[in-house]
Amino acid sequence: MIRIVGGGLAGSEAAWQLANRGHRVVIHEMRPIKKTPAHNTDRLAELVCSNTFKSTETSNAHGLLKAEMRVLGSLILECADAARVPAGSALAVDRDVFSSNVTARIAAHPNIEVVRDEVTALESNSVIATGPLTSDSLATTIRERLGVGGLAFYDAIAPIVSRESIDESIAFPAARYDKETMEGEGAEGAYLNCPMSREEYEAFIDALTTADQFHGHEFDEVPYFEGCMPVEVAAKRGSETLRFGPLKPVGLRDPRTGRQPHAVVQLRREDRHGRMWNVVGFQTRLRIPEQQRVLRMIPGLENAEFLRYGSIHRNSYVNSPAALTPHLSLRDDESILFAGQITGVEGYTESSATGLIAGINLSRMAGGLAPVIPPPTTMLGALYRYISEADPAHFQPMNANFGLVDDLPNPIRDKKRKREMIAERALIAMKEWSVGLDAHPAPPVEQGVSVSAAR
Ligand SMILES: Cc1cc2nc3c(=O)[nH]c(=O)nc-3n(C[C@H](O)[C@H](O)[C@H](O)COP(=O)(O)OP(=O)(O)OC[C@H]3O[C@@H](n4cnc5c(N)ncnc54)[C@H](O)[C@@H]3O)c2cc1C
Repeated sequence: MIRIVGGGLAGSEAAWQLANRGHRVVIHEMRPIKKTPAHNTDRLAELVCSNTFKSTETSNAHGLLKAEMRVLGSLILECADAARVPAGSALAVDRDVFSSNVTARIAAHPNIEVVRDEVTALESNSVIATGPLTSDSLATTIRERLGVGGLAFYDAIAPIVSRESIDESIAFPAARYDKETMEGEGAEGAYLNCPMSREEYEAFIDALTTADQFHGHEFDEVPYFEGCMPVEVAAKRGSETLRFGPLKPVGLRDPRTGRQPHAVVQLRREDRHGRMWNVVGFQTRLRIPEQQRVLRMIPGLENAEFLRYGSIHRNSYVNSPAALTPHLSLRDDESILFAGQITGVEGYTESSATGLIAGINLSRMAGGLAPVIPPPTTMLGALYRYISEADPAHFQPMNANFGLVDDLPNPIRDKKRKREMIAERALIAMKEWSVGLDAHPAPPVEQGVSVSAAR
């Protein structure tokens, strides 16, 4: 018997994969016995906010991720298709029809039983898919098992921009006093610096402090402490606050002028290949169009392409790179897998996709096979790689984006064409990977492979 904890998007997807492979599954869902602050019904896979799974075009990161999930037989996408409402190229759904579809499909499956109770303990042969609003008792259990710092209760996400969109005739590589280095990197490899004159800084602070903010649910009001204060809140404390905080220029010299700028926005390398750059200290609750408008005032970021937007939310998530295996299980019991938003992925589609892989892996492990993850040329494999290899000191939830995926062997200038080619390669790779997934041990390669062997 396999236990799925949480009947949300990830839990439903994991249960479906397991049940279709002949395993007996029990889904433990605490609603309606115990409610969360965001769910309104007792249905499985309730969408707590927007009603869209985003783009269906494979030249879009979310579109590609969905196309890959279809290769693997996604229940969530089948039910979304059946509940689709017109929204151009986006997969938007009637939320009630959607979650009713998922609930009915799960209820009708002979191998799945749904039990309405709150789980508070971790047991072997389970998928923990309790989401961003994991109940307090289970969160305490997980935290005790993982140790301090293993489970966060809030995210404070700074935006990430693509390297190719940064104007490197303005942004210069340097570390403060040449001291801050990333492990395995030279000092210059870790940071890019966007210098600001006094006039640019003042105009920027003005725009930042007057920009429109997102106001979420009451429960989502985060008790700000210094480490996760929104940049716009810090800026409102005084016009010089950021210049003595994340925008401090000390120890940095602009090679174009030979002088220390008035202020500096630092970009920190987010991935090994330097495709993704984090705007340091810019966790924010500004609305997305306002993030685009205000951050593009930063010299060097005028044409910034955002791979991830900033946000601050209530969100229970594991520090996966520090605490979990590459297939997102506990290190001391590989049959306790995590899936969904609690793993540090962000979004409906990403959460569902990790549930799918957790189901496949628990099935494989029950059959004596090693767990596997798709190759990093796929969006899903690249997301898994990020979640397990990101810097644990700065780990924040991540959405699907092209900065995660391996580059093509030859550079392509046309961005749309490049993404289409990455998508074509990804879908071929995912189809190959899915063949014989249940029958054969994984081949001994780095990823797309036996993660136990790769560790
Ligand atoms: C307020 C809010 C708004 C969001 N809006 C969006 C959005 O618009 N678009 C988007 O893409 N993403 C959004 N997200 C992020 C995220 O993608 C969704 O929360 C998504 O539902 C995550 O899927 P999941 O399966 O991981 O968790 P969930 O769908 O939340 O499922 C987890 C389930 O576990 C149950 N549970 C929790 N603890 C226990 C326990 N101890 N025992 C048994 N059951 C338990 C819960 O009741 C819930 O049904 C939002 C998140 C929040 C909190």
